[in-house]
Amino acid sequence: MNQAREIKYSTQDIHEEDISEVVGVLRSSMLTQGPEVPKFESTFGEVVGSRNCVAVSSATAGLHLLCLALGVGSGDLVWTSSISFVASANCARYCGAELDFVDIDTESGNLSIDCLERKLISAELSGRLPKGLIVVHLSGLSVDMVEINRLAQKYGFFVIEDASHALGGEYGGELIGTCRYSDAVVFSFHPVKIITTGEGGMITTKDDQLVPVLQRLRSHGVTSDVDLFGPAAKEDLWNYQQVSLGYPYRLTDISAALGRSQLRRLSENLKKRESIALHYFSCLDSEKLILPPTRALLDSAWHLFVVRVVADKVSSSRNQLYQKLWERGIKVNLHYSPIYLHPYWASQGFERGYCPNSEVFFETALSLPMHAKLTDCDLRVITEAVNSLV
Ligand SMILES: *Cc1c(COP(=O)(O)O)cnc(C)c1O
Repeated sequence: MNQAREIKYSTQDIHEEDISEVVGVLRSSMLTQGPEVPKFESTFGEVVGSRNCVAVSSATAGLHLLCLALGVGSGDLVWTSSISFVASANCARYCGAELDFVDIDTESGNLSIDCLERKLISAELSGRLPKGLIVVHLSGLSVDMVEINRLAQKYGFFVIEDASHALGGEYGGELIGTCRYSDAVVFSFHPVKIITTGEGGMITTKDDQLVPVLQRLRSHGVTSDVDLFGPAAKEDLWNYQQVSLGYPYRLTDISAALGRSQLRRLSENLKKRESIALHYFSCLDSEKLILPPTRALLDSAWHLFVVRVVADKVSSSRNQLYQKLWERGIKVNLHYSPIYLHPYWASQGFERGYCPNSEVFFETALSLPMHAKLTDCDLRVITEAVNSLV
């Protein structure tokens, strides 16, 4: 039976060349703080078009460090999209900030510019504007960053792009990562993402001054820059000093070598994802399912392919469809439950109905398999199963 093989919604794609790069580091004298991290950072910068890259132990660590470096502290207010992985909100919470959520546009699942603008107008009236906004390029499709930048200038908040889904995605003819319309961008290298380092992440920023700050914060707040030591410590001639509170957020050389090797196949990987998206667009029943916006075919990195079930058009609801596909070995997934409905956030006073578009999106969305290892046969099995069940 075809269906005997389990089809995952996402998985890593590791080749022999990746394995030999990792083995090379294991045989070398440095497993961490060696030459691999700076090499990965500079290669990554060349790929996405950023002169400043700081590798970190996860995207979450990167988001946390950026919130710290951009001055988020207790009593500050930070906004993010209600439809994302919880890390997009937790990072500011770690710094003691209060979080608030912006509703989405159901077509893309991305934060809605209209909802953001309306929320800013009323926040200004009530005297409680956010210090920062974390936007999320859901599935790999960019938010409208020109509009985000316009509002950021007008209301004076910083912008971090959570591009965990979006390595290789484009906006305005450039790869995501240049920070043209934001302060910084963060990428994730978790195994389900576009490329992997096991665990890992990368920050890009156009602000040169943030780089040494981020480098120090990812490594316990210690520095070997004697100018930062202060007069007393300078006399000790010790090779490093802790000058601020920092964290154990470095990426290992083992991970960096894997990342640099994975990066070599980025464009191949993106082409494969695009061809899967094209297959879904041409084969799925678009009368009964809402497909992603077609502009995604131009710009998305296709981390996820999210379809939406329309309740009055299909015999089977999203939950039934999910369950029947799992029974056939097609391990579809759900992205995402609105962050504020998770018990932790609900306990801070958020209630059902707070972001209605997000709730509709979550209740109808289904992430179909999307990764570089899917075969033509897998794709036929998936589209036939989905079409026969809706
Ligand atoms: C995966 C993900 C993260 C967290 O990435 P890690 O590297 O696992 O910390 C953050 N935001 C979004 C939108 C994600 O999908």
